[in-house]
Order: sequence, then C-alpha cells, then structure tokens
Amino acid sequence: MSLGASPWDTACVQLADAARHLGLDDGMHDLLRMPRRSVTVSVPLRRDDGQLLVLTGYRVQHNLARGPAKGGIRFHPSTDLEEVKALAMWMTWKCALMGIPYGGAKGGIAVEPGMLSDRERERMTRRYAAELVGLIGPANDIPAPDMGTDEQVMAWIMDTYSAHTGHTAHGVVTGKPVSVGGTAGRAGATSRGVQLATFAALRERGVAPADVTVAVQGFGKVGALAARYLRDAGCRVVAVSDVKGAVYSSRGLDPAALMSHVADGADTVVGFADTDTLTNAELLELDVDVLIPAAREGVVTAENAGRVRAKMIVEGANGPVTAQADPVLAENGVVVVPDILANGGGVAVSYFEWVQNLQGYLWSEGQVNERLAELMERAYAQVSALARERGLALREAAHVIGVGRVAEAHQTRGLYP
Ligand code: GLU
Repeated sequence: MSLGASPWDTACVQLADAARHLGLDDGMHDLLRMPRRSVTVSVPLRRDDGQLLVLTGYRVQHNLARGPAKGGIRFHPSTDLEEVKALAMWMTWKCALMGIPYGGAKGGIAVEPGMLSDRERERMTRRYAAELVGLIGPANDIPAPDMGTDEQVMAWIMDTYSAHTGHTAHGVVTGKPVSVGGTAGRAGATSRGVQLATFAALRERGVAPADVTVAVQGFGKVGALAARYLRDAGCRVVAVSDVKGAVYSSRGLDPAALMSHVADGADTVVGFADTDTLTNAELLELDVDVLIPAAREGVVTAENAGRVRAKMIVEGANGPVTAQADPVLAENGVVVVPDILANGGGVAVSYFEWVQNLQGYLWSEGQVNERLAELMERAYAQVSALARERGLALREAAHVIGVGRVAEAHQTRGLYP
C-alpha cells in the first residue's frame, strides 16, 4: 500500500491499524476495505447559454452490513472516486461508532457549484439523482448534504426520486428543509456535536470552557455554527478562516456578527472590523487550546504537524489530519478527537430525521437536541474508556469500536451463498 497522504491512503492505514488491534484475519480485513458498490455516472448539463457540459458524478456504498448505506453528497471540483471511497469508508465506521443502524456511503459531482446558476444547479442535481434512482432509496441508500450541497439540493433529490417512484418518499434523503420532511435541529447538528465532543474532552481533562481559546479553520456549514456554539458556551474563539484567509483577535471574535458580515455581502471573514488578517496556514499553527479543522481533508500533514501548537484538535471535517501527521501530533502530546466521533452529530440527527420520516411522526427540537447529546456523550464515553483501557489514541479507539462493530455484523449475518 502506498503511504502517500491521500484520503484513501489515510483511511486504509486507519483500517489496517484497527484490524491489527482487533486481530482480524486478512479476508475480513479485505471485506471491510473494499467498497460494496462504486458507481460513476455522466451528468450532462445544459447550461443557461445553451452549451452542453458533461460532468462526472459518483456514489460509493462502502458497507451495508449494519443497514442501508448513509452519507453525504458533495459538489466540489476536486471530487473523484478515490476521495469518495475514503469518505464512504469513514461513514461506515462513523455510523457504527454512533450506534445507528446504517452502513456507509458518499457521493459527489466534480464541479465548482459557484460557477452555476441556481437553475443549472437544479438541473445538474436532478440529472445526477435520476442516474442514481435504482441505487438510492429509504431502505437502500440515504444521501445527505456535504461540502457544496445544502437543504435545497436535498429537496431536489427527494422530488426527483419521488417523481420516478410515483409517491413522495421523504426518507430517501436527510438534511431536507423542514417544510418537506426535514427535522428540527438538523441544520446545526454537526456543529452542536462538535461542541459536545469538545466539551466532553475538556471535562475529562478538568478544563473549564471559560479558560479555553479556540481557532476554527473553515467558516462554512460546520465551522461557523461550531464557533458560535462554543462561544455561546463560554469559550474564546480567537481565530476563524475561510478559503480567502483568516481573521484573528486575541480578545475573541463574535461568530454571530461574523456570520452576518459574511451573509451581508462581504462573502469572506477577511476584513472583519478590529481583527488581524492571517493565512489559513498560520491559523493552523496558532498557540490555542483547541483547533477545529472544519473544512476538508488533508490540511494537517507530516509537513506542518510539527508546528501545530494547539493542545487539542477536534475534527469537524472528515479526514483533516493525514495518517502521517497523527504520530507527529501524538509525539508532541496533541490530543486528537477524531472525525468519526467529533462530527458524528450530523449523521446522528440524519438518523432521527429518517426515523421521523418512516414513522410520519415529528419530534420537537428539544427532543432532537436531547437525543443528540445522549448519542454524543455515549460515543465519547465508549471511545475514551477503550482508549484508557488499551492505551490507545482516541482515533485508534474510535476505529477499533467502529470497525469491530461492522466486523461483528458481517460475522453474525454470515456470507451468502
Ligand atoms: N456529510 C455528513 C458527514 O460527513 C453527514 C452525513 C449524513 O448525514 O448522512 O457526516
């Protein structure tokens, strides 16, 4: 196996490590590594100016042993099959670790969504959904938002799928608008989960939130609300960044005001009043208590890991720390709360949405948040207990639990024929 820093390499190294700790044989290790299904589709799009643009879309169902495939869809120019395979594998372990009855999947289209008009985005989404009609479904594979997609995209997928099947199928996607079967509390769920995981890790180390400084890399769907919830709960958020750069204030930033600044036309956090401007690279190396990478995979690498001064990294994004960076961080005493635990709140509330859809019965936002907290606390406690018992890093413990549960499901179901 190559030891490059691609997400797929990182995911395979993490799986191999867990397989070794669990004493799995080579056959089971192969069964757990190989995606169950990988589909590549052409997505022809008629642009508003009449030109035809042919895009490439993917959907990978990594594992189905514990239930239907589950995972987001991303629209991003660097999306390719290898990346989607890695992200699908992480979904499998994440769902198992969170204790929800799903396998793992991921999908995407290699496209820069910002270059499309709303109507083009809709046509592209509907064509991609139509190509996947035979694959997705409430009992088969349930997409959700990820980078570059949102609740409107989910509504279009649900509508396209429903048009093909002849009835409204709410449960085919999660992260929908509340008006068409979405759940209260889904929009902020991943960020709320990041905050809960951060607080669980701080509590365990006897650190009070008021004494904690935080830097958040990525001010998108996950990062912006995570910054806001952490600040509301007493932490000092000193730096945040987006693709254009980072802002820093030693006195602390007001994430809600920053969100308004971005939404009101600035389009970036850079330039916010009374802040210093930094680069994204500088933000990752700030002397803070907690660093939250909440953008994309592979931002903390063997190259910069040695310069990370944060005491703790809480992974809001999937795969932000490469397999080569992990040992460097461990050597320097940096605690890493891994992605499949830290950002598991998103898919946990997706599960709550799907359960409500299947039952046709709606929960209150209070019920959703309470059950989210229960699942996050339980998963954190299980990971931390195993880490202590076996002398493992939190990432290793999280993977041992997630991978172990999927291996157990395979063993219990047996092999057909
Ligand atoms: N895209 C999110 C993730 O990576 C959510 C997936 C889901 O809700 O299915 O966890």
